Amino acid sequence: MTRYPQMKPLNSLNFSGGPGALPESVLQQAQESIIEVPEVGLSVLGISHRSDWFAAVVTELENNFRILLGLSRDYHVLFLQGGATQQFSMVPMTLLRGKTSPAEYLHTGYWSGKALAEARREGQVRVVWSGESSGFRRLPDDAELSFSPDAPYLHYISNETVEGLQFHRVLGRDDVPRVCDMSSDFLSGPCKAERYSLIYAHAQKNIGPAGVTIVLLRDELLQDVPVGLPGFLDYRNHIQAHSNFNTPPVFSIYVILLITRWLINDIGGLTSMARINRIKADLLYGLLDGSDGFYRGRAQRSDRSMMNVVFGLKTPEMEKQFLAETQAAGFSGLSGHRAIGGMRASIYNGLTGYAVEKLVAFMEDFQRHHAKK
Ligand SMILES: *Cc1c(COP(=O)(O)O)cnc(C)c1O
Repeated sequence: MTRYPQMKPLNSLNFSGGPGALPESVLQQAQESIIEVPEVGLSVLGISHRSDWFAAVVTELENNFRILLGLSRDYHVLFLQGGATQQFSMVPMTLLRGKTSPAEYLHTGYWSGKALAEARREGQVRVVWSGESSGFRRLPDDAELSFSPDAPYLHYISNETVEGLQFHRVLGRDDVPRVCDMSSDFLSGPCKAERYSLIYAHAQKNIGPAGVTIVLLRDELLQDVPVGLPGFLDYRNHIQAHSNFNTPPVFSIYVILLITRWLINDIGGLTSMARINRIKADLLYGLLDGSDGFYRGRAQRSDRSMMNVVFGLKTPEMEKQFLAETQAAGFSGLSGHRAIGGMRASIYNGLTGYAVEKLVAFMEDFQRHHAKK
């Protein structure tokens, strides 16, 4: 028996791990654009990707990324398809194929395991550190890491979405290109983008709908690209075509533009965004830590993610009860990734502090009712 009247999920209480919640004001503009983009008079779903309007969208969006991240002209800003998964392949195809020394990878969770498997198809890989034996509950500290100066590149994931682990520093050597999958924390705060040679992030966790992957890449990385890559998988073709090599997902790219305008104009940039995200994360982790072990945070404290708060309860039955009651109370997306179970509250940019306060109040209430049992 649930103590809440059955209700539909509330969009404002969407804690989904991905696709993630987007800000209300952006959803409203996106809705409007489906009927008519004001400055064009057409539905965004029927505007040509060869139109002047779309060229202006791409130019403004690219520029917004440069403003938000302080990115110089040494970097290309690309909007690609195929998700982060395609980057798992495109990166080693471009940077590892034909090389004699191994690329270096960190194995810190579910998604880096996927990246690693794809890299191994292309060449030699050295796993610098693996968290597998500790159940991916922590990240390495600097004393556990040693990097080779001969590696063609170092690859790691800034935020392991499934396990809720986040690096709060930049790794690796300055003389080896850093490649980073930032899919689940991109634009959640400043990221020192210029210390990386290649950053990729699909849109659907933190900055828009599925269908687009942002790639920021330093020009000098492409000096030695193997011959014979399929055209679609050659970054140079996308650079030359200004991300218009084939029909791009116009709608998704437009929504990301709206998100970047929101970040710049409404939020006031990435430092402000980080401050807001920190407040949300502190609320939730504070609750876990103050719960006398009723709620159990999964990640080691120093490595906790500001985006994905992963936790469990004492028994699987209690977890089932928790999920049923959150659902009945209008919360959505709180079950953990299918690979590890438990619970995960994803608190991406678009999720409000109000929603986190609601969840915290719910969790306190749940504990009061169930702690004694
Ligand atoms: C979700 C996720 C992926 C998978 O992305 P797709 O766009 O579905 O290919 C890869 N990396 C990270 C860090 C993720 O969170």
